[in-house]
Amino acid sequence: MKLKKGEEIEQSNIFTEIVLDNLSREELIDYFISINEKKFRADQVYKWLYSKSADNFESMTDLSKSLREKLATGTRLTKVTLVETTKSKIDGSIKLLLKLEDNNFIESVILKDSTRLTGCISSQVGCRMGCKFCNTAKIGLIRNLSSAEIIRQIQRVNEVALKEYGKELSNLVFMGMGEPLDNLNNLIKALEIILDENGMNFSHRKVTVSTCGISNNISKLFKLKNAPNIAISLNATNDETRNNIMPVNKKLPLNRLLEDIRKLPLPKRKRITFEYVLLKNINDSLEDAKRLIKMLHKIPSKINLIIYNQTEDSKFEQIDYDNVLKFQKILTDAGFSALIRKSLGADIDGACGQLYANYLKKRGKYVD
Ligand code: SAH
Repeated sequence: MKLKKGEEIEQSNIFTEIVLDNLSREELIDYFISINEKKFRADQVYKWLYSKSADNFESMTDLSKSLREKLATGTRLTKVTLVETTKSKIDGSIKLLLKLEDNNFIESVILKDSTRLTGCISSQVGCRMGCKFCNTAKIGLIRNLSSAEIIRQIQRVNEVALKEYGKELSNLVFMGMGEPLDNLNNLIKALEIILDENGMNFSHRKVTVSTCGISNNISKLFKLKNAPNIAISLNATNDETRNNIMPVNKKLPLNRLLEDIRKLPLPKRKRITFEYVLLKNINDSLEDAKRLIKMLHKIPSKINLIIYNQTEDSKFEQIDYDNVLKFQKILTDAGFSALIRKSLGADIDGACGQLYANYLKKRGKYVD
């Protein structure tokens, strides 16, 4: 396709302009020094962007007008737009559809329980991990989210939380669309801001990164000043089953994954969460429960047993609740903490593995 002249110029601007909210705190300071501004000006802008969620320069009223104009011409900020919210009639959780600047979409969810409001955050548009039970996998990977898109997403989710529940998010879980550790650099950049007291100021105890198990990248999260909680989507107790349902296992078999996890520099009192989606006749036998006990030996862990959410044309089945309880009992009798997680938001396609269920339909409706 041939672009008209004006379009060419506009396109090239997008690439040459500095995207200010994609810079880390250090990069922001370097940028301000490079334009002959003082370091503390960068700190002021950083606060505006992440502590006060500013999405434009005009609102940064403690900066001079000329500096605001300089920033507005030399740089730009990232836009993530709320398109639609759907509230679950069953449990009050809310699914958000958000639009990115290039007309791609992501979904996020607000999960509400008695004490917490948790934002379930996406890290990619789609996912390339190919887990057989997950709907996001069906669209493949379209692209990574930038760190700014991750942060803007959280700000939009937080605004909806405030509006609907009168309070801000207390927790974040990277369990939305995508594999966070397949987008490591942008995830780390976003986490630095999320966990920074001058940034979004979330405690590391309230933020969880969930991964299908890219273990060499898990260890990189421990280079952060305070590492977030780690959740591993285990979902099987032998390689044959895990290879079948989670192709990532072919690259990193279970014994190596667990060996790597044992080596993590886990701070005192932190535990690794193991997620285990129970799939009928696949990974739900009592032998599986016993193997799980052996596998997690000497790993400070807690187990989340997840009830499978059946999706359209799904090849798997939920197991009976009685059998979930039997599975759980084997684990708790062995001294493990094992909680049963019923996904919230099942009626709004907002539960685990359902995000982006109607991707194409929505895209057609909202792309202008
Ligand atoms: N890629 C990351 C985060 C996204 S998936 C990861 O693999 O952890 C978040 C969680 O949802 C994972 O534990 C996954 O096993 C679970 N999940 C995916 N599809 C599901 C489904 N249909 N029902 C229940 N849980 C599902």
